[in-house]
Amino acid sequence: MPDYEKIKKELAGIAIEDNPALVRQKSRDFYWYSPILKAQLDNVTADLVVTPKDEAEVIQTLRVAFAHGVPVTPRGAGTGNYGQAMPLSGGIVLNLAAMDKIKEIHPGRVICEPGIVMAQLDKQTKAHSGQELRFHPSTAQTATIGGFIAGGSGGVGSITWGGLRDLGNILRLRVVTMEAEPRVLDLTGWDLQKVSHAYGTNGIITEIEMPLAPAYDWVDVLVGYDDFMTAVRFSDKLARSNGILVKEIAPIAAPIPHDYFTRHRPYIRKDQSVVVLMIAPHSMDAFLAFAASQNGEIIFRSDKVESMRGIPHAYELAWNHTTLRALKIDPKFTYLQVQYPGPDHVEKVQKMVEIFGDEVPGHLEFIRFDGQIQCSGLPLVRYTTEGRLEEIIEIHQDHGCPIFNPHRYTLEEGGMKRTDRIQLAFKHETDPKGLLNPGKMIAWENPNFDFSAGKNYLFPGLASIM
Ligand code: FAD
Repeated sequence: MPDYEKIKKELAGIAIEDNPALVRQKSRDFYWYSPILKAQLDNVTADLVVTPKDEAEVIQTLRVAFAHGVPVTPRGAGTGNYGQAMPLSGGIVLNLAAMDKIKEIHPGRVICEPGIVMAQLDKQTKAHSGQELRFHPSTAQTATIGGFIAGGSGGVGSITWGGLRDLGNILRLRVVTMEAEPRVLDLTGWDLQKVSHAYGTNGIITEIEMPLAPAYDWVDVLVGYDDFMTAVRFSDKLARSNGILVKEIAPIAAPIPHDYFTRHRPYIRKDQSVVVLMIAPHSMDAFLAFAASQNGEIIFRSDKVESMRGIPHAYELAWNHTTLRALKIDPKFTYLQVQYPGPDHVEKVQKMVEIFGDEVPGHLEFIRFDGQIQCSGLPLVRYTTEGRLEEIIEIHQDHGCPIFNPHRYTLEEGGMKRTDRIQLAFKHETDPKGLLNPGKMIAWENPNFDFSAGKNYLFPGLASIM
């Protein structure tokens, strides 16, 4: 057991929390979305939470942790869904929420600290010069930009801009290494892929430069259809229309919108599938003409309601907020993350709808992927058993719809199911003792792990606390 009294002395002057209840609170994220992760990770907790206010305090924390061999797991706001920010080996949770300053705003870009909440960032860049992030997760009101880069993928705005993995959607990252004398590295270009979506396993991000787009007072619109597949085809056509500026297109199958979008329920019929949209104000006339040509029923417009008080943003009905809204009312729901590779993505969705019906209510997000319009899915699943969930996953895969499994806490199993050699090589350089967020990169813990064997990886430390 590390000597935490000594560690605290060596970190004097930096904000530290050791109250077990508060430490436990900051050791969780939204892992409980998954019944499987809930069982595996429920007892995970850190020993200390350290909250640096600047990069110098990050460096001092890593220096001390390295000397004592203590694991460090970075944390933004803890809104990740796969236990990404949960300290599987205990140790220190490095809470970056106090590093929340914007340093510079320029035409087309912003330089900021990692702990700023994305809605706050957008508010400041909009007030400064009418600009906003190109895209953000639906958790923009609570999640940090650093956590998004290290743990997220894309979101509201990805219909125009693609995702974080696309070159140009992150401009520069400053990263602190976990060594006896931590180094500060500036990464640009392809090098950004070393740390983006690496769950903080190979460096702590302390400064971020992101591109910006023009900000608008986006209009929230709901379009209703009697049939989910008609809503999907409408969405696909809209996503491909050249002139209408949209930020969000998400068709969601009945009865989810009526049953779980409680604040919008007065506008939605029980049997209605709904397309959740955000449209630029100057595109509204064109959009209405388009919707009329597709017999789309406009059932809600934020620019026409008397007051939006108490009504959430449209994007808080989409992405993983759809799941959250259903889960809050019916805890038996869980979800999947599905890719429907084009050009026959609509047919693939149709096939899944035919096979699963209401056991897997549809929810798609239209996005630009590798330069093409496609849809990914976050369908809800009426969960019965782990075996049935595995079967549902297999059936998707057998029909050419890869699953990014949200019921796994490792980078590989939640992603492409193979080693990311670039991220692994970078970890060898930046974290020689393997102290950053242990248990999340299988390639580090068990280089011979055979992904093709179909077995799940269990981090050894977890077996004793499950
Ligand atoms: P955390 O959960 O705290 O951390 C995420 C990961 O980043 C962890 O591995 C953590 O260790 C690491 N990390 C945090 N800060 C740093 C740092 N400074 N340096 C290095 N590593 C760091 N995700 C999407 O991509 N798109 C969505 O639309 C979306 N919608 C969501 C909706 C709901 C309701 C929920 C619960 C989750 C959703 N997510 C989505 C997942 C998550 O909210 C986002 O990825 C979010 O941006 C994570 O930010 P955070 O500050 O909460 O990060």
